[in-house]
Amino acid sequence: MKYSALTHWVGGTAVPSNDPTLAVYSPLTGEQISTVPMSGFEALDQAVLAARGAFEAWSQKPIKERVGVFYTYRHLLEKNMQELAALVREENGKTHSEAIAEVQKSMEVTEFACSLPQLTAGEVMEVSRGVECRSEYRPLGVVACITPFNFPNMVPNWTLPNAIALGNCVVLKPSELVPLSSMRIAELLKEAGLPDGVLNVVHGGKDMVEAICDHPGIHAVSFVGSTKVAKLVYARATSHLKRCVALGGAKNHLIVLPDAHVDMTASNVAASMSGCAGQRCMAASAMVAVGAADAIVQRIVEESKKIVPGQNLGAVISQAAKERITGYIDQAERQGAKVLLDGRNVKVQGSENGYYMGPTVLDYVKPEMAVAQEEIFGPVLSIMRTESLDEAIAIENRSPYGNAAAVFTQSGGLARYVAERASAGMIGVNIGVPVPREPFSFGGWNESKFGACDITGKSSIEFFTQIKKTTTKWNPEARTNWMS
Ligand code: NAD
Repeated sequence: MKYSALTHWVGGTAVPSNDPTLAVYSPLTGEQISTVPMSGFEALDQAVLAARGAFEAWSQKPIKERVGVFYTYRHLLEKNMQELAALVREENGKTHSEAIAEVQKSMEVTEFACSLPQLTAGEVMEVSRGVECRSEYRPLGVVACITPFNFPNMVPNWTLPNAIALGNCVVLKPSELVPLSSMRIAELLKEAGLPDGVLNVVHGGKDMVEAICDHPGIHAVSFVGSTKVAKLVYARATSHLKRCVALGGAKNHLIVLPDAHVDMTASNVAASMSGCAGQRCMAASAMVAVGAADAIVQRIVEESKKIVPGQNLGAVISQAAKERITGYIDQAERQGAKVLLDGRNVKVQGSENGYYMGPTVLDYVKPEMAVAQEEIFGPVLSIMRTESLDEAIAIENRSPYGNAAAVFTQSGGLARYVAERASAGMIGVNIGVPVPREPFSFGGWNESKFGACDITGKSSIEFFTQIKKTTTKWNPEARTNWMS
């Protein structure tokens, strides 16, 4: 194994465990690179204890002092960028440039955390003569962050800098498929000066997530993953009266109008559906072409042919994922979809055991087909065709998800028409992956997110804090003058 067996990280140190382990594979080669402990409930108790123990001292530091750690951490992310990106690539299967972009995004969210003192000043007002109210943001206590496999560095960094800078202590539970990056993040935060116990990392799968939701010492749970699990986590954590935000899966629609700029649209659509091997909750996986669309569809196929597995297209996470994606394409073909570009059965020379898929473009997909409705999470674009824009919007609106939607057009009025009617939290106009940049927040609608706040940006301040209101009567009539 390239990496030694992983352990939990509690109180600022790696703690050996006798828990059963799971093998960790690299999607690039199919080789085992490490093992990860599973079901470490004792470690969870220890992690919560360590977090509770660290909370008082950490939360009492002024926020300007707390963010000092993140100035250093941001620098360490930059300094160690190549190594961090290599780790992401190895455990997740991304291309080198995608992995670099992921770490750069981690830096951007860390920069946002560094700006939190400017955004969390609270309010003060004399509400009646001699009576003053002030409000301040106070941390919640111990927060658990549960993360998915598709962004091993960025998604933990969506929550850790903000949650910790706002005064909370954290128990992080990364995906058991990509546990290595989280351990490195913990080491770098320690190097940046984070006191022991403020961040703890526990490993595991379903059982560990359930134990986190049930644990009486945890005050809030943030979750990012599939909709099926997001629903379970939201229901379970809130049944224990914990605060919870649970981000789920997606089926993002791109509505392409006949006046769309052909080249720009085609390159955007191809990049959106295939980036990170289609394993992005913001990936465009359903395109609805309104009216005459043959020229754009043809250009999308040409652009997609330039995306080559093993070169500018990474691997999917596992053999099981590859089989699931292939199964979706097989089924669509049987149901009458036209396979314009076929990514099944690709082999990458020198990485024959890697989990690679080629980009796939399916045309004449019907809205009732599984490829039109379900999250495929692979480099597959399903193209539906409609006669009218309202029909296209109706297809988008019928999706139970609501993460992102995009419109491609050169008409400002039509763009606005779609943006107003699309039932999604993040809208793109001539942008295939409309991820809001900091300080704007990230979060979908409908079954793409459960809970009131978004997970990043300004909205996350509400999630990771509670507001304390203090009313003070200072009796101006007394005319006290301590100098007399
Ligand atoms: P997943 O739901 O399988 O796993 C997410 C986390 O939940 C992992 O830590 C895993 O250990 C745990 N888990 C898995 N099954 C569980 C169960 N039955 N009960 C309790 N916990 C369980 O998700 P994934 O496959 O790791 O990630 C891909 C999914 O995440 C996609 O659906 C993608 O759209 C979604 N995602 C969403 C966003 C967003 O912002 N909305 C961002 C990234 C990924």
